Parts: sequence; structure tokens; C-alpha cells
Amino acid sequence: MRIILLGAPGAGKGTQANLLSEQLGIPQISTGDLLRSNMKNETPLGKTAKSYMDKGLLVPDEITLSLVRDRLNKDDCKRGFILDGFPRTLQQAKALENELEGTASNLDLVINIDIADEEIIKRLSGRRICSNCGNTYHMDYNPPRENGTCDKCQNTLIQRNDDEESTVIKRLNTYHEQTEPLIEYYQKRNMLTEIDGTKTIEEIGFDLTSVIGKLAMGA
Ligand code: AMP
Repeated sequence: MRIILLGAPGAGKGTQANLLSEQLGIPQISTGDLLRSNMKNETPLGKTAKSYMDKGLLVPDEITLSLVRDRLNKDDCKRGFILDGFPRTLQQAKALENELEGTASNLDLVINIDIADEEIIKRLSGRRICSNCGNTYHMDYNPPRENGTCDKCQNTLIQRNDDEESTVIKRLNTYHEQTEPLIEYYQKRNMLTEIDGTKTIEEIGFDLTSVIGKLAMGA
């Protein structure tokens, strides 16, 4: 199964992609996580990416495209994958199609998690991520068992630089200008399913599983 999760920053793509990845046994490919890992390791690519990410801008397509290409060529993607945060521009969507063309693996499903900007601003200010494994929490909606500590690997939770309110507003503008047109792009190809992102994590997970179940049964 080859799935794209679309949605504004903070819509819950990462949380749901992580759950789906465990359920379906296919990898979650998050370009944001790949970029943050390069930043953490202070690679040249990570240093370039940081200057864009800290401003709430998209990093140049050639950087994300090369990361995604390398990742999709790994063996664990043969049975499928969940793209989380990619594509984010029409150019990336077209490049992905070219990349998948000629392999047996075209896209099965594009899901848009829909949620209003005001709710996103509220959500991102409470978001915390694990400094080690990247697992995501929310102080009110999805708190860790122990305050400030990751449930999975017991490392410290931090707030992302780009989750500060002024940067969140810039990221939302970037999303509306550059990524939102992808909704229509996939709608026209009859590939898009909309999911209500205001529901709880469990409810959204249930909706996603049911959409995927129907697709698997050919409905
Ligand atoms: P995310 O973790 O998906 O919210 O991504 C964090 C930041 O990484 C974004 O605000 C962008 O600066 C950058 N980024 C992630 N994915 C992409 C992408 N597909 N294209 C360009 N920039 C990206």
C-alpha cells in the first residue's frame, strides 16, 4: 500500500503515519524527520535546510527530492510506504510520479487531514517531540506517561524551534500558498479522501483504517 498523508503542519500527519506504519508494517517516510536528522548530525544538507526550516519556509526541492529518492530505493519500501510531509509542492508531486513510474508501485491513496488554522496554532504550541526518536506528544491531548520524558525511549522531550507561534504562522502561510493546491491536484485524479482532523487521535485513526480497509477490499 502506497499512501500520501496531506494536511497543514500540525494536522496530525506524523502521529497518524506512525500508527499506520505499525498497523500496516510499512515504513513512515517523513521528510521533516529526515531533515531534522541531518540537522542533528550537522551534515552540509542539514545546515542548509536549517536556514529555511527556522524561517517557516520550504527547503529547496532538490534537497527533499534527493532524500526521498534515496529512501524510496531502500528494500523496506518494496511492500509500500506512508509519505508524511511529502509532496509539499506541485513540482514535488510531479517528481514523485516520475520516480514511481516504471516501478510496479504507483500511489494507492492520498488522504488529506483537514483542520482550521486557529486549531493548529493551539495544537502546535503544546506539541513536544522526543529529542532522540522524534516521537510526538501534546501536553493536553496526548501527554507522555511521565512529564517531559518519551514513553518509547525515555529521552527528553523538547519543543521544536519552528513550533514557536510566529514561525507557525509563517509555516501556515507557506502551506496555503504552496501545498494546499495539491488537494485539487489529487482530487482531479480521483485519488483524494478527506478526513476530519478536528476529531481525536483515536477517531482519526479509526477513520483512516476504515478508508484503507475499503480500498484493500476494492470498494
Ligand atoms: P514537518 O516536520 O513535516 O512539519 O516539516 C518541518 C519543516 O521541514 C517544514 O516547515 C519545511 O521547512 C521542511 N520540510 C519538510 N518536508 C518538506 C518538503 N517536502 N519540502 C520542503 N520542505 C520540507
